[in-house]
Parts: sequence; C-alpha cells; structure tokens
Amino acid sequence: MKAEMSTENTGLGLEEFSQILKENKLKVTQPRLRVLEVISTKTSAISQPELEKILGTEIDRVTLYRILASFEEKGILHKVFDLNGTATYAFCSTRCSADHHHDQHVHFICSVCNSVFCLDEIALPKIKLPKDFSLHAIAINAVGLCDQCQKK
Ligand SMILES: [Zn+2]
Ligand SMILES: [Zn+2]
Ligand SMILES: [Zn+2]
Repeated sequence: MKAEMSTENTGLGLEEFSQILKENKLKVTQPRLRVLEVISTKTSAISQPELEKILGTEIDRVTLYRILASFEEKGILHKVFDLNGTATYAFCSTRCSADHHHDQHVHFICSVCNSVFCLDEIALPKIKLPKDFSLHAIAINAVGLCDQCQKK
C-alpha cells in the first residue's frame, strides 16, 4: 500500500495568511504572517528550534512561542511530537475550531532524519472507552524511512 503524503507546498500566499488570521480573530501582524509563510514552505512539520534557525533575530523566542501556542489553540496548526519528543507543528488540513482538532490523522516519522509528515487521508480508529473515560486525543505514528532518506 502506498500512502499519499502531503509533501507538497500549500501554495498559499500572504493574502491567504491574512485571511486565516482574520477568520481566527487574530490581528494580522508581520511576525504571525512570517511564521505562517515559513511553515507553508515546509513539506514536513517544523519545530520551534527549526523555526528559530530560519527566522534568526526576526522574531524573539517568547513571541514565537506565543504565536505557535495561539495558532495551535485556534486550530490553525496542530502539534506532533517527533521521535525525540520535540514538539513540531503542521497546518491543519480542515478548519479546526478553537481548542478542538477534528482532523486527527496518522503521522509518519522518519527514523533517520526525524521529519514528521501528516498522513491526512489515514483516519484514526474509533476507540471504544470504558465507562466514565473520556477521550482527548489519539496519537498514532508510523515510523520508517522518508523518501529523501530512502534515496541515500
Ligand atoms: Zn487540527
Ligand atoms: Zn528521513
Ligand atoms: Zn498532521
């Protein structure tokens, strides 16, 4: 079975990013637009340290942390932990609402380069819980070699 991965750029521009911010009642600011722009150019999920490397001194660490937290809360991004337990962020494929991510899917993590990919089309199983248990999240990771590492 060959799963199709979202390894293509989102192709979104500043216009769309402004729109996303407005829809989520976030003020359109340069740092917020910049973070969306950087994330959209990546084919895999990106961590805060990686973002810091790309942004350099453009956005200070605290601001970046707040931006990521607010984007996650609004359902613009979702958080996935890589094999080292570092949080990485990826765009939500459907419109998630504040505090509720309804686009949960399986993630693929490369055991060599540690890149995290969304396998958007693989839905998570329905989980039947014991009485009085409530479900907040399901995390399923497929681990293997990504296309880039496969070529090496
Ligand atoms: Zn989501
Ligand atoms: Zn890899
Ligand atoms: Zn994902």
